[in-house]
Amino acid sequence: MDADVGIIGFGPAGMSAAIYAKRYGFRVLAFEHGVSGGNAALSPLIENYLGFPAISGSELAGKMEEHAMKYVDKLINARVEHVKKIDGGFELTTHEGKNTVRSIILATGTKHRKLNVKGETEFTGKGVSYCATCDGFFFKNKRVAVIGGGNTAAVEALYLRDLGAEVYLIHRRNALRAEEVYYRRLLEKGVKILWNSVVAEIYGTKKVEGLKIKSTTDGSISDVKIDGVFVAIGDDPQNEIANEIGVALTENGYVIVDASCRTNVRFVYAAGDITGVFNQIIVAASQGAIAARSAYEDMTR
Ligand code: NAP
Repeated sequence: MDADVGIIGFGPAGMSAAIYAKRYGFRVLAFEHGVSGGNAALSPLIENYLGFPAISGSELAGKMEEHAMKYVDKLINARVEHVKKIDGGFELTTHEGKNTVRSIILATGTKHRKLNVKGETEFTGKGVSYCATCDGFFFKNKRVAVIGGGNTAAVEALYLRDLGAEVYLIHRRNALRAEEVYYRRLLEKGVKILWNSVVAEIYGTKKVEGLKIKSTTDGSISDVKIDGVFVAIGDDPQNEIANEIGVALTENGYVIVDASCRTNVRFVYAAGDITGVFNQIIVAASQGAIAARSAYEDMTR
């Protein structure tokens, strides 16, 4: 076997798992096809990770990666395409080749949900974005809309407002899902909230020029001229690998784990947003540690 523990996904959960697994004496292989740090790395501002009263996602992810890389034996920058059960472990296939591991920690996280409206695909990268930290800079002093009512939408709206943009927050209900602290800040900073509204169409010629907004109360259609739209309507679990190895999922596609982060498949554990427990960085990091401990208990018994 190439390693004792194969960690799939190198966000806060995977990185924390790597630190703990190595300190238990295991050989650790980690796989990440995107940026280390997962979705957390894309957050403009994090204020609830213990010990860091205010830090950008990229800075926190950078600190975590620096720490975790001291422990991981090898980080393979490739997507795990397939996992197969073999004698004494698992075989993981990436475009770089095959690796064998005795156990797996699934830390595959989630991916951004799409609006699925006319114009969304056509204008992605031409005014439609899923990451204010990445693209907000281009909308300084312009008019933008953020779609969604959760913490991500609120944080992104505030970030864009701080950049000097005129910001509309468009939410399908009449109350935010985001924490109260964000609601107060949105009002204070002059973010215009359009309640009971959904996007019916994103239109433009070469780039985004506006939105057709549909009222969820009376079905009427209105028009908002904007230069950019940030979609922040939540995430869906990246469960393809879990599915392939027969890990049980909830009806929403999250990996079912017990309190020890064990799945129903022996020697397969899961941690972080893929478990759908509570999508917070501190929870992901904790679950990574728990998953590594469970792997240690099971493999040394
Ligand atoms: P979320 O909490 O699931 O919120 C998604 C929002 O988008 C909800 O307001 C939802 O409306 C709306 N929505 C969903 N599908 C929609 C659709 N098809 N059309 C229009 N609106 C739609 O997702 P999130 O804000 O990305 O947050 C994900 C997780 O990360 C959460 O657990 C969140 O707490 C966490 N997070 C935390 C922080 C923080 O603690 N500072 C920051 C960012 C993210 P309804 O409300 O009507 O369902």
